[in-house]
Amino acid sequence: MSRRPSFPARLGPPPVAKKPVSFSPVMPGGIGLDSQAVRARMVQKLAAQGIADAQVLAAMGSVERHRFVDSALVNQAYEDTSLPIGLGQTISKPNVVARMIELLLGGKRDASGKLGRVLEIGTGCGYQAAVLGLVASEVYSIERLRGLHDKARENLRPFRLANVHLLFGDGMVGYAKGAPYAGIIAAAGGDAVPAAWIEQLAVGGRIVAPTVMPTGQQALVVMERTAREMKQTVLEAVHFVPLKSGIA
Ligand code: SAH
Repeated sequence: MSRRPSFPARLGPPPVAKKPVSFSPVMPGGIGLDSQAVRARMVQKLAAQGIADAQVLAAMGSVERHRFVDSALVNQAYEDTSLPIGLGQTISKPNVVARMIELLLGGKRDASGKLGRVLEIGTGCGYQAAVLGLVASEVYSIERLRGLHDKARENLRPFRLANVHLLFGDGMVGYAKGAPYAGIIAAAGGDAVPAAWIEQLAVGGRIVAPTVMPTGQQALVVMERTAREMKQTVLEAVHFVPLKSGIA
């Protein structure tokens, strides 16, 4: 007597429930990326390169940079290199992020040991906003590209940084509602520091912004508002994406 096959017909062995595969990419040196050790090594390198602020080094050591880059680039996340984040934009290399935040802090801290309110222009993937969130009391970060603003929101969600506020808009006009700022930091370079940023800077505050010099070269510019004047210092050459007006 032939038995009719039950439906659905079983072809071959029953499926075995798969264990969920945890994503733990391996660094060239064989160290799992979920390891704190990879970041500790990055921090050691940053210190050797001259980053001295303990708070900046601690923040760089704690934010998981690999969570902000595409999975194909994860094994480069802790190398001292800039990486594409989509829509033609890049995440700066760790050394540049640390250097700029150190300049922004400029040795200043409020009673809580942190910098006060900070404005970031160019949220990108949200990495620098997360680092800033650990060294400043409040962070307002503006992005002009909707796609990246949304991506940053998603990237930052698991970090639960209640003091990091993401805004979609044109950062050339700053964000008056959060002003005055103890620090304004730009991740994109224009031909000049926009007037709105200077207006929204607190006395004693600093602007750190890549700016195109008359030579056509981009350099890091630090501006500081004293009670009487704006002081400006031009530092090393840098390569940032252009600061653009409007939203897209
Ligand atoms: N800090 C970012 C780096 C992003 S790259 C990170 O950690 O990933 C610089 C970003 O500045 C780009 O996403 C670009 O779209 C944005 N940008 C350029 N001009 C801008 C403007 N006027 N307002 C807001 N964002 C701007």
